[in-house]
Amino acid sequence: MEEIRRAVFLDRDGVINEIIYHQDIGVIDSPFTPEQFHLMDGAAWAIQEINRIGLLAIVVTNQPGIAKGHLSKRVLDLITEKMIKELALGGACLDDIYMCLHHPKGSGNGSGDQRYVMDCSCRKPKPGLLIEAAKKHQINLAASYMIGDSITDIQAGASVGCTTFLIGHPKCDLCRIMEKSGVRPDFIVPSLLEAVKVIKYQENLKNSFQGSSSEQLCLSEIFIDDNFYAHENPLSIERKFC
Ligand SMILES: [Mg+2]
Ligand SMILES: [Zn+2]
Repeated sequence: MEEIRRAVFLDRDGVINEIIYHQDIGVIDSPFTPEQFHLMDGAAWAIQEINRIGLLAIVVTNQPGIAKGHLSKRVLDLITEKMIKELALGGACLDDIYMCLHHPKGSGNGSGDQRYVMDCSCRKPKPGLLIEAAKKHQINLAASYMIGDSITDIQAGASVGCTTFLIGHPKCDLCRIMEKSGVRPDFIVPSLLEAVKVIKYQENLKNSFQGSSSEQLCLSEIFIDDNFYAHENPLSIERKFC
């Protein structure tokens, strides 16, 4: 089947919604209840922009909380409903949502839902979720984008040829670990919004090469932070790593 469409694949936690500190168990993790689910600043606006430029906005997320006993499938569904509703209120639409519910070890003490305790081919860093989405929506993965805040997001996206964006600080510990592992995102940006600005810029370049007269992006809108995109020539976005 012809791969005619392109997508922005979005990790969920730390990209669309805030990560939660669970004081009772002393861990930083996904929200375990709908009340703990809060959109990141600018997330709806960024996804609305993805919608507007004609790319598919598709969530690809590892959610092992059921396998680990943190929440039920029912509660996860409620969290998903809240995400869709809050994004819709902000004018944003997700084209699809793919979740890996598996975990190779589960909670470790049998308290999780054992049906999801397994090795699978969809848990990132494996690209199973992206491949499944590509089949359904006829997506050209090599011409698509992956935005995430973990090494595993970058690995999943890079393994199928997506342009990858790490949301993080250029001096972050994660970046040092990535460099040691030989994993390199194409871009490091401080937020989903900034990632989408770069995508808009790249799409605009593609369009202008094809001779269409698409809207001109204001460059000052894109080159927000000299640490990330410091260069004289706006036509050559530097792929920078810390
Ligand atoms: Mg994440
Ligand atoms: Zn899986």
